[in-house]
Amino acid sequence: MNDSLKIPFYRHDLTPTDAQAVASVLATPFLTSGPTGRTVEAQIAAFHGVPHALLTNSWTNGALAVLLACDIGAGDEVIVPAMTFIASANVVELLGAKPVFVDVDPDTLLMTPAGVVAALTSRTRAVMPVHLYGQMCDMRGLRHVLREYPDIKIIEDSAHCFEGTRDGERPGTWSDAAVFSFYATKNVACGEGGAIICRDSDLYERLLQTRLHGMSATAIDRYQKNTYRPWDMLRLGGKANLPDLLAALLPRQIEAVEPRLTERQRLVARYRDAFADSPLRMVAEAPCTISAEHMFVVHAGRARDEAIVKLNAAGIGVGIHYSAVPLTTYYRNKYKFAASDHPVSSEWGTGTLTLPLYVSLTHAEQDYVIEAVRRFVYPLIQGGGKR
Ligand SMILES: *Cc1c(COP(=O)(O)O)cnc(C)c1O
Repeated sequence: MNDSLKIPFYRHDLTPTDAQAVASVLATPFLTSGPTGRTVEAQIAAFHGVPHALLTNSWTNGALAVLLACDIGAGDEVIVPAMTFIASANVVELLGAKPVFVDVDPDTLLMTPAGVVAALTSRTRAVMPVHLYGQMCDMRGLRHVLREYPDIKIIEDSAHCFEGTRDGERPGTWSDAAVFSFYATKNVACGEGGAIICRDSDLYERLLQTRLHGMSATAIDRYQKNTYRPWDMLRLGGKANLPDLLAALLPRQIEAVEPRLTERQRLVARYRDAFADSPLRMVAEAPCTISAEHMFVVHAGRARDEAIVKLNAAGIGVGIHYSAVPLTTYYRNKYKFAASDHPVSSEWGTGTLTLPLYVSLTHAEQDYVIEAVRRFVYPLIQGGGKR
């Protein structure tokens, strides 16, 4: 093996063309949200086949805007999977509501409609399915089991899935809103950013407010009219609008999202082939689903932490996605969770390991990763062995 090879966990592939797009914004008066963002919102709405899209400065602030627009707060419960990024639960907690964690399917690691039904109470106000690693939850099934509860909102955490489908349908089809992240390492990325899509026009009007301080008119509206218009504050809002400087990085990636997905699929197929007969566990493919292939994740059992040290020493960047949220110190202390409360998520969280996966990863680099896993990680699992 070539020891000089260094393979980061993630490497963006923005180009001088993207730098030019940012420079074009700098040449206009709009450093914050303006015409570039409006164009990207139309592009996102068209891609997902929904009437409304709003760019946000992160998934987190976008999700807060959605929860605020749905008047979710103290005394309310929101059902969240135990296997996700902490942000999915934190937005609920930040508004004084209670995240109710449900365990996930042991094969796909996705929240299930049956799991949601078992967690419903009279205080349930919303459900937040998370499309983990790029595979969509069973949204049709979820909407079906909630058909008797029209007041319970479905808010998709689609941070891992901009471009995937399930049953041929994209995010936003069965939910009240879906929220994306354009954080640095996501499939579509602008450093920090995100978007909300929705179908309901009343919700859209409220989101325009909760995205920007609860104000009745946006800065761009005031500017375009060229006369100052007084505004009022109609409801409590946050600060979630995306500046055009960052929005300018998005159109080219969204245009190319299908060929970029094809490249990710090729890389994932190579990993799956290479590890087919290995002692590593892999995530099962959900039925009728085109994954956005956001992450390639394996389970190395009790050897995980040692595997990370070995792979880092070989110059390979890896990640953990995720430790079960209820077992993080904050949630464990506040709600007194034990691993046995969410056994699948807890067990997955102790052994999971994420390998490099991005469009600019070459096959030679990927072969180096595969070889290092075979050489350094397999013996740890086989030696330290029983799971
Ligand atoms: C990245 C991520 C988020 C948070 O996204 P930000 O844009 O950083 O706020 C939320 N949920 C999941 C599942 C994520 O992976």
